Amino acid sequence: MATLGNPRNTIEVLQKYEFHFQKKFGQNFLIDEHVLEKIIRAAGVTKEDFVLEIGPGIGTMTQYLAEAAREVTAVEIDRGLIPILSDTLREYDNVSVLNKDILKVDIAALAEEKNGGRPIKVVANLPYYITTPIIMGLFEKQVPLDSITVMVQKEVAQRMQAVPGTKDYGALSLTVQYYAEAYIAAYVPPNCFIPRPTVGSAVIRLKRHQMPPVDCRDPELLFRLIRAAFGQRRKTLQNALHNSPECGFAKERLAAAIETLGWEASVRGEALTLKQFAMLADVLSGSGM
Ligand code: SAM
Repeated sequence: MATLGNPRNTIEVLQKYEFHFQKKFGQNFLIDEHVLEKIIRAAGVTKEDFVLEIGPGIGTMTQYLAEAAREVTAVEIDRGLIPILSDTLREYDNVSVLNKDILKVDIAALAEEKNGGRPIKVVANLPYYITTPIIMGLFEKQVPLDSITVMVQKEVAQRMQAVPGTKDYGALSLTVQYYAEAYIAAYVPPNCFIPRPTVGSAVIRLKRHQMPPVDCRDPELLFRLIRAAFGQRRKTLQNALHNSPECGFAKERLAAAIETLGWEASVRGEALTLKQFAMLADVLSGSGM
């Protein structure tokens, strides 16, 4: 039975161990059982699953995951939390805790060891200061991945899920949507955490695509074009791509590509879908700068 996840028991554990929150590690612990249940449900964890949890804190969500999953590995950077986790997780024989920085863990090797290389589920209330490197690392480093279900800052979740022509749409939306289908499962107010964060939060589920949703000969060029287009988002696509040190295509070449695709010369990156960026990458690839 999960015993944490409410303010009283959480405070009792924190006092017992005289725990001091470390701001630099983005420590905001969940104290709302409904939110915890929602996360587990959104993640679709079953007894077949191996789950990687990033930043277990005092083990609140870890208890829920241990009950729902076959096996859990929880990676926690703060050495001070390790004795607490040994205590709060003592009843579970399917949980291992690693005292490491998640950005330095070879997650593909972990998935191989713990799950025979089959796709894993990642579930976490993330430390917000490293949300993007964690998520991009999971997508880019060939980790066999079923889905990522995570609590992130509300605005970041909205950017991941955004569609063309909206203010939230940008490089993060396109990159995440190249790899996964994004779906916001819940909005979570600051009073569900201790201490209360200064920002709103949301639970987002990123279900990994089996195949990229667009065909593109050179995905690396696609990502460069996306970054360059939104690096100067108020400029026309042509100027943004010409000015970017990452791309630096000649203006005439860009104008010809845009014309070939039948777009207005004044088109901006924020109006283009992922498919259109992929078409542009295909037209430009193989051509001289
Ligand atoms: N899962 C707990 C909960 O929901 O109550 C704690 C979530 S708290 C937002 C983030 C956790 O990530 C903290 O326990 C923090 O120490 C840990 N953390 C921060 N940076 C980390 C890193 N680079 N690698 C692993 N864990 C990290």
